[in-house]
Amino acid sequence: MVRALAEGYPGAHCELNFTNPLELVVAVILSAQCTDKRVNEVTPKVFARYRTAEDYAGADRAELEELLRPTGFFRSKANSLMGLGAALVERFDGELPARMSDLVTLPGVGRKTANVVLGNAFDVPGITVDTHFARLVRRWRWTAETDPVKIEHAVGELVPRKEWTMLSHRVIFHGRRVCHSRRPACGACFLAPDCPSSGEGPVDPAQAARLVKGPETEHLLALAERVRAGERLGRANNGGNADDGGRGGSEAAPR
Ligand code: SF4
Repeated sequence: MVRALAEGYPGAHCELNFTNPLELVVAVILSAQCTDKRVNEVTPKVFARYRTAEDYAGADRAELEELLRPTGFFRSKANSLMGLGAALVERFDGELPARMSDLVTLPGVGRKTANVVLGNAFDVPGITVDTHFARLVRRWRWTAETDPVKIEHAVGELVPRKEWTMLSHRVIFHGRRVCHSRRPACGACFLAPDCPSSGEGPVDPAQAARLVKGPETEHLLALAERVRAGERLGRANNGGNADDGGRGGSEAAPR
C-alpha cells in the first residue's frame, strides 16, 4: 500500500505555501479549523507584514487579528503567533528550533505542527497525524489506536523512518481526494484490493468516480482502472517480489 500510494501521489507535498521555517509554522498554526487554500490566501499579506519572530512579538494585536480574521479563531491564532514570536526571541535567539522537544514548548505548537515543520522545513522525518491520516490508517487496520500520538508511534513502527514525511503527505492527499470521511470513493480507489474497509463507500466505478476530487483525478481514475483490470501497483520495477505485507504479489485483485 505504501508503494501504491507513492505511485498514486508522486508529487504529494505540503499544501501550505511557505519559504522558510517561520512561515511554515505560522501557516500550520493558521490552518487549524481552516482549509489550506484559505490559509494560502491570507499568508502572503501576513508574511509580508511580519518577517521575523520579533515582528510577531511586537505586533499590533488589532492589526494582526484583522489579517487573520478570514482563517477563523483569529483572536486565539493572533495570541499564538504573538506568544510564538516572544518565545522565539526570549529562548531561541529569534530562530525556530529544529527539535521536537523544543518545538512543542512553543505557544500554538503541538506535536502535529512540530512534525509538519520538522518534515518540511528541516528535512527531519515526521509523521503528521491529522484527521485524514488518523481515519485512513484505521480504515486500513494499520492501527486501532485513536490517540494521535499513539497512531504516530504505531505507524512509525510499520514504515521506515526515511519515508515518514512523504507517507504523511500521500495519506493526507488520499484522504482529501478519494477516501473521504463520508462516502469514500471505494469503487474508484487504487488501494481497494488491499483495503480491508473497501465497500464503506460506493463500489460502482462510475458512481465512485464522481466522488474523486482534485487536480490528479484523471491520473487517480486511470490507476483505479488498472487495478480493476488486475494490475498490482508499485511492483513494476521489482518483478513482483516486493514486500507486500505478506499478501503475495501474484494474488489476483479481489475486486
Ligand atoms: S477502498 Fe475505500 S475505504 Fe479503502 S482506501 Fe479506498 S476509498 Fe478508502
